[in-house]
Amino acid sequence: MNIDVEPFRTALLEERARVEKAISTLRASHPGSIDDEVEEFSGTSDNHIGDTATATLGREIDYTLGENAGQVLGEIDAALRRIDEGTYGTCVKCGKEIAPERLEAYPWASLCIDDARKAERG
Ligand SMILES: [Zn+2]
Repeated sequence: MNIDVEPFRTALLEERARVEKAISTLRASHPGSIDDEVEEFSGTSDNHIGDTATATLGREIDYTLGENAGQVLGEIDAALRRIDEGTYGTCVKCGKEIAPERLEAYPWASLCIDDARKAERG
């Protein structure tokens, strides 16, 4: 590897801060559990069903976002570890260099484009 990893380290740290903020905002805006909301409406009225469905849907979308954010956070941490180990920018699968354009778009990429496509196909 002969690329300068420092700009990528900076990009990763900035992205990490952004994702962590998003996760904490997500958690702060949704205190309590979905069970409380459902219990509140059940058996008392027939015109609150729509509200309950909307609340449930919103929670599911947020939950998915939270999961993705958590996954990205893990990938960012792994990339920062690879910088420290001196293996950053190398495909973890085949050991070839990851294209700089790919690293610029996804600084946390751990696979070269070929292996990433293979992984997508399964
Ligand atoms: Zn590869």
